[in-house]
Amino acid sequence: ENMKGKSGKQSKIRVFCRIRPMNRTETARGDAAIVSCLDEYSVTVETARGPREFQFDRIFDKGCSQEDVFQDMNRLIQSALDGFNVCIFAYGQTGSGKTYTMVGGKNLKNPGIIPRTFNKIFDIIHENEAKFKYKVSAYMLELYNDRLQDLFVSPAEAMRKRIELKKDKKGLVVAQGAKTKEAASAGALFALFEQGCANRHIAATKMNVESSRSHLIIGIMVESRNLTNGTVCYGKLSLVDLAGSERAAKTGAKDSQLKEANSINKSLSALGDVISALSLEQPHVPYRNSKLTQAMQDSLGGNAKTLMFVNISPSDCNVEETLTSLIYATRVK
Ligand code: ADP
Ligand code: MG
Repeated sequence: ENMKGKSGKQSKIRVFCRIRPMNRTETARGDAAIVSCLDEYSVTVETARGPREFQFDRIFDKGCSQEDVFQDMNRLIQSALDGFNVCIFAYGQTGSGKTYTMVGGKNLKNPGIIPRTFNKIFDIIHENEAKFKYKVSAYMLELYNDRLQDLFVSPAEAMRKRIELKKDKKGLVVAQGAKTKEAASAGALFALFEQGCANRHIAATKMNVESSRSHLIIGIMVESRNLTNGTVCYGKLSLVDLAGSERAAKTGAKDSQLKEANSINKSLSALGDVISALSLEQPHVPYRNSKLTQAMQDSLGGNAKTLMFVNISPSDCNVEETLTSLIYATRVK
């Protein structure tokens, strides 16, 4: 049981660090690998000023497979079906492996956490079908420049729609106006996800925006009715692939790029503030400082279980961003 935090009590926020392998360009260029893993809990970065060590709840080194990473997710997914709110998200600079971790490799190779979660949800449902009746539904949103876009409707319709974040009677944040779709199988859920990705791609192409500059938010709601006593419980899983955390280029950035970068910086620092306030058990948690934290509110704090991945590159050419990411991730622990 490694849910125990540094204070020895049950911590509801865990931070995992994943180091991606060197890519072809970095290898061809002869970049130095400056990130090493001492054991499963500590990582060292060689900097110009000497080595710096960081500790996390778990480190996944470059050799770790998607299966290795998903092993640790099983209990979290079970929790969502037991009525908890669970959030899994990936943080890091563009190119560090967030999408690989959350979604998987290109062309559905090496599926990541999202497709594996879809399968796992329905595996658990099938194991418990004799005792519970389940209903699974989902929404899928993109947050770009502080605007929430519905990915379950056509890009043209999404442009005309306004999505508001409101708390419902059950205390769940609902993206009011967002399309929620039911799914009766893992395959159906995956088809919805693919349609959402296609809509995201069309919208991004039309607006000439990189998908790494927006946050992707998937909400999966699970309602389970106990067939013996009729009690109903509601759980929710939020799966989030955050926009790249890198700072904007200091020179040559266009106005639109600066606006984009400011919006991302603001939302990511608001997320850091929220998680840090939660882990320090401060009485005031500043959820309202950004749409991102509002959209993730029900999955952060309270009874929610949160898992953050900090994805990093091993190459010396990314040392500054790697350090920035590790410091951010250490702060939220
Ligand atoms: P991000 O979403 O953070 O911008 P990506 O997930 O797109 O980064 O990763 C950048 C590239 O590196 C992709 O081609 C991806 O397939 C590859 N990659 C990332 N992490 C891994 C990994 N752990 N193993 C193998 N390839 C990886
Ligand atoms: Mg990505």
